[in-house]
Amino acid sequence: MTRNDELFARAREVIPGGVDSPVRAYGSVGGTPRFLVSARGAYVTDADGREYVDLIASWGPALLGHAHPEVVAAVVEAAGRGLSFGAPTPAETELAELIRTRAPGVEKLRLVSTGTEATMTAIRLARGFTGRDLVVKFSGHYHGHSDGLLAQAGSGLATFALPGSAGVPEAIAAQTLVVPYNDRDAITGVFAAHPGRIAAIITEAAGANMGVVPPASGFTTFLAETAHADGALLISDEVLTGFRAGPAGYAGVLHDAGEPVVADLVTFGKVIGGGLPVAAVGGRADVLDMLAPTGPVYQAGTLSGNPVAVAAGLATLRLADADAYRRLDTAARAVADAASAALGAAGVPHAVQWAGTLFSVFFGESVTGGVPDYETATGQDTAAYGRFFHAMLDAGVSLPPSAFEAWFVTAAHDDAAIERIVAALPAAAAAAAEG
Ligand code: PMP
Repeated sequence: MTRNDELFARAREVIPGGVDSPVRAYGSVGGTPRFLVSARGAYVTDADGREYVDLIASWGPALLGHAHPEVVAAVVEAAGRGLSFGAPTPAETELAELIRTRAPGVEKLRLVSTGTEATMTAIRLARGFTGRDLVVKFSGHYHGHSDGLLAQAGSGLATFALPGSAGVPEAIAAQTLVVPYNDRDAITGVFAAHPGRIAAIITEAAGANMGVVPPASGFTTFLAETAHADGALLISDEVLTGFRAGPAGYAGVLHDAGEPVVADLVTFGKVIGGGLPVAAVGGRADVLDMLAPTGPVYQAGTLSGNPVAVAAGLATLRLADADAYRRLDTAARAVADAASAALGAAGVPHAVQWAGTLFSVFFGESVTGGVPDYETATGQDTAAYGRFFHAMLDAGVSLPPSAFEAWFVTAAHDDAAIERIVAALPAAAAAAAEG
């Protein structure tokens, strides 16, 4: 029995499934999750003292690599001045200003602690602003675990093949209309069926919770136009893509591709907290000013804008310069190219898909024509991914324990880290081919 096995057994006695977030349990790939005790740069170390090249990056926040010395120093300095005040602080405004400078369409924003809170508040704002109840979301898009957004939600629900969650009242689920991604007719149809009743379309800026599934060219603009024509809002969820898909999030990627679409509301999380709990809802000032105390839409948080978390976010965003994004992109291309080459050489059908610097690899015959939506994503060969995952783990590379997640690199994935990944790939590709 390894130390990881012991810790997992002990955790399961007191924590449901032994984990505080479902995908961590290795449910779909099998085996014992690694209990991590430290992380630095591109590497994580488990309770057995084994080091892995990390391709999870805390599911996104570790943009610069783990425990970046300047981020840690900022956190220590802030902690020394007090952990939480429950009062406004100068640093919150600095972080809000910095996000506004870099994110298209953000005139005002409010800080919260998790991506779930950010999207939940965005939905409430859209409803308060429009006076309407219905929300359109896409199958395979994950927006956190609030009641109304769990239908066909990708991420852990895809991993465990769940259509939604128990415990969500039917009346609440009925307010969410789920349509296939990248399907213009479905959007036209849902607005035709419910004219004047839809408060908002919520979309991931680029789908990244069913594997990476970017919007087709023009699709996001079409969403904005269709929503606005009916008096509804567009909410772009950049919790995962924000400041990771590129320096201005996926909105920046779209802008560079000649599609300068600006959503009414944008949500952020992950990178803007640099590994501590910070998220935000931002967008049009007239919509944001609907929030209490200036408006009638209520939202609050004891730890919102927490000074230690804000210090981590500020340090991270300040260090996320052009050079950091270049390193991130170079590392991502190197890993994706090497993985695709190894899988190709072993005869494993697969597809690599991109959203800015973000990518994932889909496995199986049915994905080779591309993956535009959830139906195609769920058709992939998860068993082949499981074999690949374990062979990589045995060789010291920690991939996401699910076929439905992006592969996250960091700006600290240098040549040495990439070489370790590349060295592990042929055997893993062979394992994937063994099915
Ligand atoms: N939206 C998106 C697009 C996400 O990827 C996630 C988390 N992976 C969330 C919202 C929820 O964020 P959190 O886990 O911080 O609540």
